[in-house]
Amino acid sequence: MLIFIRPQATAAQRAELRHALAAEGARGPMGTLPLGAGDVIGVEAAPLTAAARERIAALPAVARVVPVAAPYKLASRAASATPSSVRIGAVVIGGGGVPPVIAGPCSVENEDQIVEAAQAAKDAGAVMLRGGAFKPRTSPYTFQGLGISGLRLLARAREVTGLPVVTEVMEPNLVDVVAEYADMLQIGARNMQNYALLVAAGHAGKPILLKRGPSSTIEEWLLAAEYILATGNPQVVMCERGIRSFDPLTRNVLDVAAVPLLRTLTHLPVVVDPSHGTGRRDLVVPMALAGVAAGADGVIVEMHPQPDAAMSDAAQTITPAALREIITGTRAIAAALGRISAPDTPKEHSQRHARVR
Ligand code: PEP
Ligand code: MN
Repeated sequence: MLIFIRPQATAAQRAELRHALAAEGARGPMGTLPLGAGDVIGVEAAPLTAAARERIAALPAVARVVPVAAPYKLASRAASATPSSVRIGAVVIGGGGVPPVIAGPCSVENEDQIVEAAQAAKDAGAVMLRGGAFKPRTSPYTFQGLGISGLRLLARAREVTGLPVVTEVMEPNLVDVVAEYADMLQIGARNMQNYALLVAAGHAGKPILLKRGPSSTIEEWLLAAEYILATGNPQVVMCERGIRSFDPLTRNVLDVAAVPLLRTLTHLPVVVDPSHGTGRRDLVVPMALAGVAAGADGVIVEMHPQPDAAMSDAAQTITPAALREIITGTRAIAAALGRISAPDTPKEHSQRHARVR
């Protein structure tokens, strides 16, 4: 169930509520999440008797109690009357308008490469830079990323272009250092169910891009988001990046249906990653546009000035020219679907997302 707290509730009344919940047998983090009009707490109703629920609802801190059948509570549609949006600098993911496009290489390789990629991303109309400094590689013999020096290079690319940066954090004890450099933390597909990492990242207070595990159900993915939300951090963006299939012709299958399905289940914004979602450069543009047509709030793609030379994920990495196609197509689709009145020019687009930090 969701317990909506009265905005006027005092600290003592809130403490009384948390105390009463624990005394009545509620389990879980019981963190308050600031959403829209006020704070909300999510708990599983099952351990509480009907009488206990009534006693909770009658406490002075409580505005209303809403039952939620799904195991995720704060991530559910019931938690927020309106779709939530997440702000990263001047970029807004969710809440309508032209879906922002995030682009950059799979890995940060050196200063020239990341600065050139960032500049190419910006010139094409992307509003945010991606790039991994800590890389979760399937084989221990492949490039593992530059680590902390890669974070410094991302900061340098941001300084040059003004684009905010999203980068992956793989371990709870690295959250602080990654958060020091990044504007948004990425939780990778392989770590979607690393609960200690989800909690640590949530506490960093930065926006989080939560990738779907390659074999995870949508419910498991939403429960992973719930771990972050329960730390009191509402800034979660879901990222559909493809799930495993039997077919070796693609690396993963981008679950486009997950986009409108999530819309019915959660208020959280959702973006698509057609790069990992297909593993093939030739499929990235059409699948990016398919994701936007399905209602995605944004797109994240791997782009490199020399895709064939990329040190990781070269086969799925697109050129700056292909990125331009995605951005033009995204605007046209947003206009066709009535999300904006007319496609804005690349200049208007980047002005709307101009960085204010
Ligand atoms: C990445 O973004 O480079 C990455 C490793 O993604 P995923 O976690 O989706 O595989
Ligand atoms: Mn990659």
